[in-house]
Amino acid sequence: MRITAAVLESAGAPFTLQQLDLAEPGPDEVLVRVDSVGVCGTDLEFANFFPTPAVLGHEGSGVVEQVGARVTGVAVGDHVAMSFASCGECPLCLGGNPAYCRRFDAVNFAGRRPDGSSALSRDGAPVNGHFLGQSSFATHVVAPARAVVPVAKEIDLRVVGPFGCGFGTGAGAVLNVLRPEVGSSLVVFGAGAVGVAAILAARAAGCAVVAAVDVNAGKLDTARLLGATHGVHSAAGDPRELLAAIAPHGFDVAIDTTGREDVLRTAVEVLGPLGRCGVIGVGPSERMSFDWRSILNGRTVTGIIGGNSLPQVFLPKLLDLHAAGRFPVDRLITYFPFEQINEAVAAVRAGEVGKAVLTF
Ligand SMILES: [Zn+2]
Ligand SMILES: [Zn+2]
Repeated sequence: MRITAAVLESAGAPFTLQQLDLAEPGPDEVLVRVDSVGVCGTDLEFANFFPTPAVLGHEGSGVVEQVGARVTGVAVGDHVAMSFASCGECPLCLGGNPAYCRRFDAVNFAGRRPDGSSALSRDGAPVNGHFLGQSSFATHVVAPARAVVPVAKEIDLRVVGPFGCGFGTGAGAVLNVLRPEVGSSLVVFGAGAVGVAAILAARAAGCAVVAAVDVNAGKLDTARLLGATHGVHSAAGDPRELLAAIAPHGFDVAIDTTGREDVLRTAVEVLGPLGRCGVIGVGPSERMSFDWRSILNGRTVTGIIGGNSLPQVFLPKLLDLHAAGRFPVDRLITYFPFEQINEAVAAVRAGEVGKAVLTF
């Protein structure tokens, strides 16, 4: 079928809307008409080096229009959130940890299916896609059935897409991995969409102190509005001192969403004994460094991909929390028509919006 997609013609170039051909879904795939799709930092990161021409986008939601011959559990007409792909067969997938699938890169970042084919083409030549199981900067997507999660029809589909990545990443780090105790203290570095999702999850988990650290005063205001007990402007002084005033014995849990070396070190150093630091952001720094003696007091540092969630289990729970008014991430969203994808990207880059969502 003929679809409209935002094509990346060369690394770092703006997206251009083009007509592409989309093949029929394979036996284990589904065809989804995209309702809306979030713009995530990972899209912007990969736009710098993903093999082109390509279609990115990985926070899509929509309606299933066709299912492959072997697909069960998802039916035509279902509303779905789309999440990352996984092989379903390796020990990590079978153990309930598909975010650490042995074939994660091959099924999410190769631009093709594992057999080398692409569902996308232009004038008969393949176009790279299958990005994080979807490539949803497009009116329609062919996705592996394993990567889609049916959601209740009462839920606004325009909110659902980022649950598959950004919102799920922040919330999953807290609720699936770090699991702070009731009454504990938690600090989040970076109050973007992922950070605020972590803050909301920390409130839902019963943390007594939830501090947000950012350089952007507007983002701190939003974080406080949505549940952070403290906002720390990182240019207002040494963040270590400002945070020590909030948690004099150190934080129980710290989460870094920035991927910056100086911030990562601070995240470790503000922990109390037995404190745990979750590293969930991809940022500009290649390495993390700290005095090794600073972790002798039982501190640990854990990297976390995708909130280590099993999307079919975690997303419905998170959507229930949202429906109950306890995970109000919709207040982070600014909507743009799909045609304004480059304006949305610019707004994300400038930190002007919490989460940009493109609508069709
Ligand atoms: Zn696997
Ligand atoms: Zn993402």
